[in-house]
Amino acid sequence: MMDNVIISIFFGIVGAILGSFAVASTWRLRARQLSSDKSSGYRLSKEEKTEFEFIKNLAKDGKSSKYSHCLHCHRQLNAFDMVPIISWVILGGKCRTCKKPIGKAEFFTEVGLCVAFFVSYLVWPLPLNSLIGWVLLIVWLLILLCCAIHIVYDSKWLLLLDNITMMIFILSILFVVLRYVLAGGGLQATLISLALSAAILPGLYGLLYFISKGAWIGFGDVKLLIPLSIMLPNWPYALLFLFLANFIGFVTLLPGMASGKVSSTARIPFGPFLIIAWFITMLWGKYIVQTYIGSAFIL
Ligand SMILES: [Zn+2]
Repeated sequence: MMDNVIISIFFGIVGAILGSFAVASTWRLRARQLSSDKSSGYRLSKEEKTEFEFIKNLAKDGKSSKYSHCLHCHRQLNAFDMVPIISWVILGGKCRTCKKPIGKAEFFTEVGLCVAFFVSYLVWPLPLNSLIGWVLLIVWLLILLCCAIHIVYDSKWLLLLDNITMMIFILSILFVVLRYVLAGGGLQATLISLALSAAILPGLYGLLYFISKGAWIGFGDVKLLIPLSIMLPNWPYALLFLFLANFIGFVTLLPGMASGKVSSTARIPFGPFLIIAWFITMLWGKYIVQTYIGSAFIL
């Protein structure tokens, strides 16, 4: 047990480091997105123009973009400024030189991925006594990294980038195949279950998207649901996932709506709710389904 906790802490540290990488990638992806919008003739809004001026250096693949630097004063960060979580806390979320704030996204993503990696190893539901078992865990962690980029990007700019969803899709196929090799089970039952999971969620949300013409849910969310759903081990998990995503969304937004801060017509990033619900379903789904939904549902 103690060994498990120590290895989990190691995973947590790796998560925090990758969290800082995830946020840096998000800014770079945003700069590239705006730059390609601009060159394809799309007229940037006033806010987008200001934002682009601020981050446009990141869109270039030159040397300056390879090192982390303060977005405000462009000072190159030294090693002490780049220790995930700890640097942010010591500096109070401000640049050492110009004292301008470093985004909260940096801090929350580092903490978030640290916790996600720590917990993943601690409660990992599949065996780790073979190479395939370990590769499967690493694929999972890479998916979490992509999800972290999605969460930050969607929270800031209400968009789930297609190339990140595509990366998750490729990893999800690898994940399903490796799990099948590792855990076995009937091929036919596995395929049927896969088809059901893939039909229930993306199908339902796809329908909502078409009925509401994109007002209730974005097409990016529907696309993201495809890889997330096919990784669910069984179709009852899809129901749990569906319930959790809406529940988490409801609980998060309720205080804002009740106090009038979030209007009922405001555009809300749904991607983060989907990802958090999926994460919980993947790691604790079996326990929750058996305890609360009933073991009769497990095929
Ligand atoms: Zn600065």
